[in-house]
Parts: sequence; structure tokens; C-alpha cells
Amino acid sequence: MTIIDPKPPGEGASFGNAGCLNGSSIVPMSMPGMLKNVPGWMFDPMGPLSVRWSYLPKIAPWLVRFVQSGTPAKVTAQAQALRALLGPTVATMTDLAREAGAGDLVRHDGHIYVYRSEEGFQKDQAGWSLRRENGVRLEYLDRDELRDFDPVLSPRFVRGVLIPENGHTTNPSKLVKSLVEHALRNGATLIAASATGVALDGATVRAVQTDRGDVPAESVVIAAGAHSKPFADRLGDRVLLDTERGYHLMIADPEVRPKLPTTEAEGKFVVTMMEGGLRLAGTVELGGLDLPPDWRRARVLLDHARQLLPALSSSYDEKRLSQWMGFRPSLPDSLPVIGRSAATPDVLYGFGHGHVGMTGAPMTARVLAELVSGETPALDLKPFSPRRFM
Ligand SMILES: Cc1cc2nc3c(=O)[nH]c(=O)nc-3n(C[C@H](O)[C@H](O)[C@H](O)COP(=O)(O)OP(=O)(O)OC[C@H]3O[C@@H](n4cnc5c(N)ncnc54)[C@H](O)[C@@H]3O)c2cc1C
Repeated sequence: MTIIDPKPPGEGASFGNAGCLNGSSIVPMSMPGMLKNVPGWMFDPMGPLSVRWSYLPKIAPWLVRFVQSGTPAKVTAQAQALRALLGPTVATMTDLAREAGAGDLVRHDGHIYVYRSEEGFQKDQAGWSLRRENGVRLEYLDRDELRDFDPVLSPRFVRGVLIPENGHTTNPSKLVKSLVEHALRNGATLIAASATGVALDGATVRAVQTDRGDVPAESVVIAAGAHSKPFADRLGDRVLLDTERGYHLMIADPEVRPKLPTTEAEGKFVVTMMEGGLRLAGTVELGGLDLPPDWRRARVLLDHARQLLPALSSSYDEKRLSQWMGFRPSLPDSLPVIGRSAATPDVLYGFGHGHVGMTGAPMTARVLAELVSGETPALDLKPFSPRRFM
């Protein structure tokens, strides 16, 4: 196996995510009734969702499909497909990390969602029902139980939902690097180059073309995250891949350490205790791959986190803070693209995991390995078809 990447492993979107390995993250982004919240979010530049206006014409077809994906029937099917993809993650990632000598980077101790208002909790009921219907066990906490569970959370929060089955990694980038190093020790090769295309002789793969020359190949997997679309376009597959940009802010040596990764459900961000400090991660910005980051969106996470964790300092020396922006590779129906290309069965796709790429990686990798080896995949791949947008 040869990995071709211009950057070192674990430096893309996988570098700065919230580290959650949530098999319960099966609620699509586009939900019935969600549309009425969107204008409020979009006109608040520091809200959980924002659009860079200059990018709006480009992302319009994606947005249309996003809205169309939010019917009750489609959402039920998407959640079932996501559960099959994500459900086995914690167990699989734990085994993989152990094999790679990085078992200490994966925890299996749950995830908690918290709500500032009863109204916010009630608005999310459709999502909680979807999770329950797909076999996710939930534990509901009232205000007092929440305070007992994790005293660092502000007493303003009135509701909590604990999901014991979930896990997380304390260093997503290091986990990816460890897995790649393990593969290299077992015979894989890493080439630091940018792929530009796949050379075919009819329907037979000849090589991966790169800026450093051709790399001979028999089977190719396109897994370049948010950068995968041009490859699919050239192979005749019109996938509606775009990016939901997200941000994180990290506080080194924080005053508080939340017991579990905690989602502030109404603010739509996650706080996770990581090896390098407390990571505040979230927000969605529709702005494509080329516009510069709007760092105010990372900074605003700190204001929101102070409402959640009142013991955080009211001011920080800049040396303790670091910020990051990454490109979630997103399809409008919240499902990745996993399957064979139209041009040849020997080019496969594994990209577009949106908000759950860290979590979706183990099963995606397993299925791709099965397809390359000619085995029947462990997952029904119909919902993930590259041709579902045609
Ligand atoms: C703020 C934020 C929080 C998140 N939190 C979570 C979370 O808690 N849990 C979760 O599961 N997911 C989370 N995600 C989503 C997750 O990070 C992504 O879905 C995942 O990292 C995507 O992985 P990937 O390997 O497809 O893409 P990437 O990690 O971006 O990797 C793509 C790779 O392709 C390479 N590449 C690009 N172009 C080329 C080319 N031409 N040739 C060769 N290589 C190329 C890049 O260099 C990169 O190494 C979060 C994302 C963000 C932004």
C-alpha cells in the first residue's frame, strides 16, 4: 500500500477536530423544521452557522440539496446508514490504536450534551428520538443531577443527556500519525506528493499522477477529504462535495477540566480535554477552500465557553491560546461517499464524512479494504453511493 499526501499524516481536518468518537452522531445536519432557524443563524456572523456571502452563488446547489435532504423519510434513512457506519467505532478504534501502540489516545467514557434552556432541549427531541430508535442508550439528567455529574459546568444549564457508549481521542492528529506509522512499519510506503489525477488505460488503472511523477497502481482510493471533488469530477462522478469550515481554540493549562467531552447543544460547540489543553471546537462556516479564515469565529468560542465553564479565566495571555481552522468535507445529506467510481471499479472513493470523519474512519477503511480485495463489504453501500446526486 502506498499513501500519497503532500502534507504529513494527520494535518488536514483530522488535525484539529473535537476528538469525539460518537457512534451516536447519527442525526443529519439538515433536519425537518430546521430551515426556520437558518436565517437567524446566518445573519449573526458569530452564530453557529455563517455563510461568506461571496461564496453563496458557488454553494447554492449544495444548499438546495441540503434543504431537500431534510424530509422525515430521508432523515430516517440517513440516520440508519450513519448508525451502521459509526456504531462500531469506539471498539474498532480502540483495537486499532492498541495495535499501533497508541491505546492511551483512545478513551471510552461517554459524551454529554448540555442545554441552557428547556426550550432548546425540547427543540432537539426529533434528534434524540432518532438516536433512541437506532439503539443509542441515553441517560437524561436534570439541573441538579447535571451539577452533581460535573461540578465545573455552570448551574445555568438545566438539562443534560449522557451517552455512555461514546468515546474520544485525546489527540486526533497524534492518533492519525500513530496509525500511519504502524502501517509504515508493516510495509506501507508514504510519498510526499500532491496527486493530480488517475491515469487509466480504458477501464484499467495504470498510475496515480502526482506533481512528482506517476506512481504505478492497480487500485486507487481517493480519500483527500474536502479536496476530493476534482478527482471524482474527472472520473465522471458528480458528487456535491463542499466544505463546512470549522474552528477551534485551545487553552493550555486550563483552570477547569470537564469530566467528559461536552457539547453545548444550543451553541453547537464541543469542549474536550486534550493532551495539549482544553479544546473548544465547532461552528460551521460556508466559505469554500480558498477564502482566508475569519479568526473571530475561533475567538467567539471562548466567550461561549465561559458561559459553560464559569471558572475559565476572563482574560488569557496569548501564549496560552492557539487557534485553528479546518475543512470538514461535507455532502448535503450528511453521508460520505464510499464506493467505486463510474470510470473503473478499481478507483474507489472514501471521503465526505463531514462532522464525523474521525468517527467514520474505521468502518470506511474496513469497507474500502474489503472492496479492494474483492470481498463483500460489511456495510450496505447504497446510501453512500457516488451516483446518488445524478
Ligand atoms: C472544528 C471541527 C470539529 C470536528 N470534530 C469532530 C469530532 O469530534 N469527531 C469526528 O468524528 N469528526 C470531527 N470533525 C470532522 C473530521 O475532522 C473530518 O470529517 C475528518 O477529519 C475528515 O478526514 P479526512 O481524512 O477525510 O480529511 P482530512 O483530515 O482533511 O485529510 C485529507 C488529506 O488529504 C490530503 N490531500 C489533499 N489534497 C490532496 C492531493 N491532491 N493529493 C494527495 N493528498 C491530498 C490532505 O493533505 C490531507 O492530509 C470535526 C471537524 C472540524 C472542522
